[in-house]
Amino acid sequence: MKKLLAIIITLLAILPAWADSPKIVAHRGYWKAASGAQNSIEALAKADTAGIWGAEFDVWLTPDDVLVVNHNRVFKGVNMETSPIDSILAVTLANGETLPTLEAYLQEAQRHPDLHLVLELKPMVSGIEREDEAARRVAEMIEAYGVADRTDIISFSINMCLTFKKVGPKQCEVYYLGGNIAPKEIKRLCLDGIDYNGGDLDAHPDWIQQAHDLGLKVNVWTIDKPESKRRYTDMGVDFITTNTPTE
Ligand code: MG
Repeated sequence: MKKLLAIIITLLAILPAWADSPKIVAHRGYWKAASGAQNSIEALAKADTAGIWGAEFDVWLTPDDVLVVNHNRVFKGVNMETSPIDSILAVTLANGETLPTLEAYLQEAQRHPDLHLVLELKPMVSGIEREDEAARRVAEMIEAYGVADRTDIISFSINMCLTFKKVGPKQCEVYYLGGNIAPKEIKRLCLDGIDYNGGDLDAHPDWIQQAHDLGLKVNVWTIDKPESKRRYTDMGVDFITTNTPTE
């Protein structure tokens, strides 16, 4: 009986801390487990099999209106904003996969119903009309694949954040990445939180509490060292985006 009581007391002591731990987001998927292939379908799947809360990935709109998943605007000689989809799909990633479309990504996501999706809308140099079109098409595809309740949107483009907020499913939370807008203004813009790099949060540590007081959430990127993860955990962030999601 005493032993049982001791276990219950220990659990009660641990549970609040566990409940408050930041959720872990695998930056560009769990790519270290996918032969280094960032933003690959394998990296998405492996984030789930490793039991990670969410997977982040980057989305572009090609000139012929196909949504593709890749980090860089220019990759292996193709340009996501100016190259036709046929030439983009001819590119292979480090693990041998072809560069994935968002549709292929979301088809894979349907096989991983517990995995949260953190979808980055990439800013487009071709103009805000194309940014608006990308945001609209992403919104439609998220609805079509029924993943709105587990997808968050992030972007360095405040225009894309605002457009998605206007046209996207209401369940999707939208976070700004730029690091230069205080929580009060983010709240005024009706966004759901800030997703800032560690340096920006270190420059404004008070923004974490300010965000929480306004009902916003805070994600920090890209935090790979265990001691840094502990530091931002102690600072009270809600999410940590990392290349080392299992460490
Ligand atoms: Mg990204």
